[in-house]
Parts: sequence; structure tokens; C-alpha cells
Amino acid sequence: MSMVQVELPDGSTKEVPEGSSPKDIASSIGERLARQSVAARVDGKLVDVTYPLHQNCRLELITLNSPEGLEVYRHSAAHLMAHAVKELYGEDVQVTIGPAIENGFYYDFYSDTHKFTPEEFDKIEAKMAELAKMDLPVEREEMSRQSAIELFRSLGEQYKVELIEDLAEETVSIYRQGTFVDLCRGPHLPSTGFLKAFKLTSVAGAYWRGDERNAMLQRVYATAFPDKKELRAYLHKLEEARKRDHRKLGKELDLFSFSEEAGAGLVIWHPKGALLRTLLEDFEKREHLKRGYDIVMGPQILRTDLWKTSGHYDNYRENMYFTEVEGQSYGIKPMNCLSHMLIYRSHIRSYRDLPLRFFELGTVHRHEKSGVLHGLTRVRGFTQDDAHILCTPEQLDGEIKGVLEFVSDVMGKFGFEYELEISTRPEKAIGSDQDWDRATNALMSALKDTGLPFEINEGDGAFYGPKIDVKLKDALDRRWQCATIQCDFTLPDRFDLTYVGRDGEKHRPVMVHRVILGSIERFIGVLIEHYAGNFPLWLSPVQAVVVNVTDNQAEYAEEIFRRLRAEGVRVKKDLRNEKLGFKIREAQLEKIPYMLVIGDKEVEQGTVSPRHRSGKNLDSMAPEDFVAFVRRECMEYR
Ligand SMILES: [Zn+2]
Ligand SMILES: [Zn+2]
Repeated sequence: MSMVQVELPDGSTKEVPEGSSPKDIASSIGERLARQSVAARVDGKLVDVTYPLHQNCRLELITLNSPEGLEVYRHSAAHLMAHAVKELYGEDVQVTIGPAIENGFYYDFYSDTHKFTPEEFDKIEAKMAELAKMDLPVEREEMSRQSAIELFRSLGEQYKVELIEDLAEETVSIYRQGTFVDLCRGPHLPSTGFLKAFKLTSVAGAYWRGDERNAMLQRVYATAFPDKKELRAYLHKLEEARKRDHRKLGKELDLFSFSEEAGAGLVIWHPKGALLRTLLEDFEKREHLKRGYDIVMGPQILRTDLWKTSGHYDNYRENMYFTEVEGQSYGIKPMNCLSHMLIYRSHIRSYRDLPLRFFELGTVHRHEKSGVLHGLTRVRGFTQDDAHILCTPEQLDGEIKGVLEFVSDVMGKFGFEYELEISTRPEKAIGSDQDWDRATNALMSALKDTGLPFEINEGDGAFYGPKIDVKLKDALDRRWQCATIQCDFTLPDRFDLTYVGRDGEKHRPVMVHRVILGSIERFIGVLIEHYAGNFPLWLSPVQAVVVNVTDNQAEYAEEIFRRLRAEGVRVKKDLRNEKLGFKIREAQLEKIPYMLVIGDKEVEQGTVSPRHRSGKNLDSMAPEDFVAFVRRECMEYR
């Protein structure tokens, strides 16, 4: 019997009889590994665990607990769903494609007689469970293109025929399980019995091949996990995310809206939302001033010639809006850098003036395709907490560290954990080796100083400089891009920025673009979901509501309301002639942190009795003590 040498990732080699499969090798290592292995990579190519090995090779087993293993698992679940659908509806439904996606998978079906609805999901899941229980082997078969076309034509699967006709390969692979057959590259789980936990989640329309001139298909979304516990945890998270959806809460709490009349992706802030945003912006201004930033402001439109100087016209034009006034073309700013460059250039700068840190709550407009717009998190007009730091090369280290400390302080106040990534020099780049080394080292050393782990995206930086990205983790463990720290070697050149050094000569300053929260709109969207609308006291647009029990206390309640408002507490009153329970329920729906219920006792004693939205009561206190309490809480960002 001839033998083949198989090299494993740990560098060891196994000698096995020719024709052995990755599964055989997994079994020779351990039963557990064999059970966990769902595919393999042979000399870099993904294959089934049953793939016969005919020559010496490198082998990597792919287990269920890896992202690739999970993808194989979910794609196999997509076959199972299509199999179940074919069993249930036969020729009424044609199959098209069914890939794994983030958090699950989908399958696109065509039918002009059957319309999928969530009501039949149970039935499809039951059929899937039945087919999984039968533990049908999933078998790969290779055949000529022509035979495959004939096979799928005989099955009445026109979409599959069309797919194969477009393939360049002469040989194609199909996978069979029981009566079901699908065109597929693989790899797949060895049998349907591997699939333990799956759930259909929604159905939506999708054009065949994403082209609106083509037929409308029905896309059934679903998810699958290696065990039922993980599936339950995921579904719970999905439900929680649905409840916290900032688009839903934004409407319920009357924070903002969008209007087709105004245009898609353009936020309209209602009083409470605008107040929330103002609180956040005031916070930002204070924090920037504390750290030696100068607040600046530039115009909303700038001449197109200036966008040519900056390079935006050549590289970013398709995302910009333009307008014309008196024959002069202007670009609406998609970024805030340009006026900051002009401010720098408005004086002769000496090394003694540096670093300069220009901060602007800059509103920008960028064209996003309507299909990707999403609540506050993807919009066309938004405001960045943007700053540009201009410094000497020697100062860069300290500046980057300062920004990362800033990020850490701010994220701490909101209770966010975060992850860090650095992107380094790409193949095509401008700037000298010395520039890149200095900037990359400054970013690296600042990252190491944080003591937090970080990821390195080798070669992923912009052509004009390396950068650090910060991704925060919200209460549902989702990641959101917030801070970015980007070094830039082009703008100082293009705007010919200089400073006079100690040697009396002109030098180029180093430039850093940075944001801390990023887009204020997106950050508020994230905050709404993170807090589930229960903003901490310092961020609540309404901090307290004064509620009287009966008309007898109306006068005193009115007086309390006025005193608190005059002292700067964000307070509202509800003195309507309604049942107390009704008024309390309404205040709870509004998620107002404190309710001040005024009864006879409060009137007699001249006090208020604050009740927190969590149900916790504070002791009765004098109104001025409540004012002091609110101020203290806000100072501590609670
Ligand atoms: Zn497949
Ligand atoms: Zn910038």
C-alpha cells in the first residue's frame, strides 16, 4: 500500500495510507477532534472531511469552534432548509442560492405560487429537524458542466441551470443529501445529523442576482448554532436588540425623525433629541478645552478649487455635494480639515506655537447610497467631534498618547469598553520611510502604553498615513467604530504648511486628524441602544417630572416646578386632572429618571419625595437638597 506524508499545523508529520481522509487523521489524533472536525484545508484549499488524500500535503482541520467551521455549519443548514422546503412544496418552489452570512444564513427561493410567511416557519423547522434526525449522508459528486445542466434542467431548477451556464469551469460539483441535490463548491458537513440547532428568523424580497430587472425572489433568513443553548442566547440577544432599536425608541421618546420631504438620511432633531445632543456637545467642548484644544469653526461650503488643492475633488468627489453661486462652484464639506489648514496658514508659525489643536463640532455631508442608510448610524448629514493636531515630529508621541488617554476617559464616563486596531503602511503610499516609521512607532508606543491588547492590520492604512481605530462594545456586546486617530503626510504638503524651527529654518509640521466619539448622530444612536433609552441623569433631556396627586397640591407643585427649573434642573410638570397611576405610567414610558409626587404631606412639610424610575425611593428632602443632589450626580456623570 502506498503511503502519503501529511504535515499538520504544529509542524508534525503523519504517514497514512493513500486515500485516507482528514477525518481518518482527526480520529487518529482523538475522538473529540474527529467529532468537532467539519471540514479541512489541504494545501490551502477548503475540502470536505471525507476528501481522499492522494499525495503528500499540508493539512489543517477545521473545527466547529472556528469561524470557518461555523460558516460550513451554517451553509450546510442552508442546504437543509432548502431540502425541507423542496420536500414540503416540491415543484412550486425553485432553489437559487443560500450562503452563510454574519450570524446565520439565508436561502433565496423563487415561486410564483407560494408566498413564504413567518407563520409557516415552525413547519419548515420541523421538517428540517426530521431530516437532520435521519442523519442523511451529504455526498459530493463531480460531473461535467453539461451533465450538471441536464440534471438541474430535469429537476426543473432553471436558476441552477443559469448559474452553471455562467460558470467557466468544465467540471462542477454538486452535493446530495437524500432526495435533495444542490450545485455547490462545498465543503459541507458529512451528514445532516451534525445540525442540532437552527431557527428561521424572517423573510424579505430580493432580486435574482441583486438586479432589479430580474425576477423577485423570496429570501428566507435563518440562523444555526452548534448547540441549542447558544441558539437561545443568540435569539435572546436579537430580541433585546429589537426592543432597544434606536429607530423605535427615538420615535417613542420623541427624540428625532426623518422625513421623505426633507430627504433620506437627514436627521431632524425634536426638542428632547436636540437637548440630548446639546448636552453631549457641551460635554465635548468642556473636555476639549480642558485638554488644550482651541475651538474653531469653518464654513459649510468651500470653493471647489480648494477641494482640488486638498485632493478631495480627485479622490472623494462622488461622495460630495456641489452647488454653484454667481458662476462660482462650491463643495459642501464632507470633512472639516480644510478650514483648519487655512487657520494654521493664517500666521507664520514657530516651533514655540506647537502643538496646535483645532477642534470643531463640524457638520459634514456625504453621499451614501439610499440602500445603506440606517437610522442614526448611517446618515447623509452628521456632525463629527473633529480635531486636527499640528505638531513637530518630536511632539507626535506625546500627542497620540494624549488622544488615547482622552478616549479612555470619555469611554469610561459612558461605561463603554473598547478594542483597538492599528493599520500600517500599504504597498502604495506617499511619504518617506522616515515619516512612516516615526508615525507608526508613535501609534504603536501609545497603544502599548494603554496596556490593552490591540490588533495590527498590516498594510491596511490609508496611502497618506497610518491610523488607530477604536471600536466600542455596547451592552449587547456589539462593536461600533468611534474614535479614529489618523496621521496625514499629504495635507501639510498640499497646503504648504510650515513652522520656523529652532534652527531658524522652515519645517513641515506633522498632522493628525482625530475624532473621539466620531459621528455625534451615530454615537447617540449607539447610546440609545446601550442604555435602552434609560439615559443617566446627566444626559437625560428631562431629569424630573413634578406630579400632583389632586388639584389641592397644584399650586405647590407649580411652585416646585418653577424653583427647580430656575436652578437649572431639567424638569417638567404634569398637573393634569388625571389619575395618579396614569401619570406615573406615562412618566415611566418617557423613561424620566425622577418623579416628584406631590401629596398633602409634601405640601405640609415643604418637601419633595423623589422616586427613581427603577422604583427606588429617595428620602423626602427640601427642594434645594434635590437640586444639590442632581448637580452632584451630573458632575460625576451618573
Ligand atoms: Zn452548499
Ligand atoms: Zn480631517
